[in-house]
Amino acid sequence: MSIIVNNITKKYGDQKALDRVSFTISPGHIVGLLGPNGAGKSTMMKILTCFIPPTSGEVSINNLDLFEDSLQIRKIIGYLPEHNPLYTEMYVREYLEFVGGIYKVSGLKSRVDEMINLTGLEEEWKKKIGHLSKGYKQRVGLAQALIHDPEILILDEPTSGLDPNQLVEIRNLIKNIGREKTVMLSTHIMQEVEAICDRAIIINKGKIVADDSTGNLQMLRMNEEILLVEFNKPVKSKRIHAIPGVTRVEKLSENNTWAVYTTGNVDVREDLFKMAVAEDIAVLSLQKKEQTLEQIFRQLTLEK
Ligand code: ADP
Ligand code: MG
Repeated sequence: MSIIVNNITKKYGDQKALDRVSFTISPGHIVGLLGPNGAGKSTMMKILTCFIPPTSGEVSINNLDLFEDSLQIRKIIGYLPEHNPLYTEMYVREYLEFVGGIYKVSGLKSRVDEMINLTGLEEEWKKKIGHLSKGYKQRVGLAQALIHDPEILILDEPTSGLDPNQLVEIRNLIKNIGREKTVMLSTHIMQEVEAICDRAIIINKGKIVADDSTGNLQMLRMNEEILLVEFNKPVKSKRIHAIPGVTRVEKLSENNTWAVYTTGNVDVREDLFKMAVAEDIAVLSLQKKEQTLEQIFRQLTLEK
């Protein structure tokens, strides 16, 4: 009962969107597929859900083969596509009954009620989908993905475009669903994976660059910290570099702003101020910079 992806390559013409990707997902986990735009996340998800075939490689889902058993695979998978193509002219309940009908769900009316409750659509089910906010549209998307009670749920950027409140609600909803099902979701936001997933598969330019528990990835994030420091006049980079714990410095602009990279376990701020005083320089501002995915990739690829 698991997803086994073995050496999948997908080419669009000459372009390789996926390059020999392999991973295994065992049941009952929430796995994040993390990567920047164009990394190949949606392509991977479309392959897993039998929407497009891979160019080469094999996928088996609960011992079913992607090519031979695609109909059966679709029955055990729920899929929320990236640009959730909801039928905007349909009413919420009408749409869910329509999708449930395609899957030949038995006891459809009560199943739709159940989905409406589960995804918090009680107040909205009478409306046309086109009249719902983005957050509620995503709930409808989740409800349609779950209508046939699939064992596996594939969610392509389920929280993109949501406001902070909606974000928290949808994340909680996914976490709850993840208690009973295997969930794979894609995102380009590191914090999203940390908030919801047990494990992250990081993908860049069609290749897996890391596959680890979220805890271990957080450690990686903490291995390096970046401070943005603005001085009132020019500073020699070697003076900053001489501070214990500083691994790298980078001048960001002409107005004496620097990015100071440090090993995450050392607080260099006091030494930074002392250095400035000794040089008769003022620190105008100092702030921690959130690590971007690019920095994490850099760290991952440097370590290999
Ligand atoms: P992500 O979801 O991570 O943003 P995608 O899987 O959508 O990435 O895309 C991976 C790469 O494949 C991108 O460079 C994209 O431009 C390309 N691509 C995706 N779909 C097609 C397509 N139907 N035809 C040609 N190129 C495509
Ligand atoms: Mg995508």
